[in-house]
Amino acid sequence: MSDCIFCKIVAKEIPAQIMYEDEFVLAFKDLSPQAPTHILIIPKTHVENFLEAAQHQGMNDQIFTGIANLVKEQGWNPNGFRVVSNCGSKAGQSVFHLHFHLLGGRELTWPPG
Ligand code: 5GP
Ligand code: ZN
Repeated sequence: MSDCIFCKIVAKEIPAQIMYEDEFVLAFKDLSPQAPTHILIIPKTHVENFLEAAQHQGMNDQIFTGIANLVKEQGWNPNGFRVVSNCGSKAGQSVFHLHFHLLGGRELTWPPG
């Protein structure tokens, strides 16, 4: 999608600090980190949210496989990170290309605000 900032990151038209990449997904550091570790993982194909992703066979699986690979590659402690996706503006979604936030490196409180 031509006016989508995350599609531009996938196309390497704008820079990002890439942490993981495979055929299907890209993970990069959030521009405005909310925790010492704050990575976004996105499908390379533009979809708005994970409900739309469910219409593309295997897409949500590809994202979660990417998360597992990233965690393994980075050697993160599996006890202490959060995976979250804001679905819709009322939940705080501001970029309408599906992304999961991976947050860690500090105590994470619950519930989120
Ligand atoms: P949302 O609010 O949609 O759940 O999350 C969007 C996230 O994208 C925010 O945490 C924001 O900091 C991040 N973000 C927005 N624009 C850019 C960008 O150009 N580069 C990177 N790396 N992150 C971005
Ligand atoms: Zn996009």
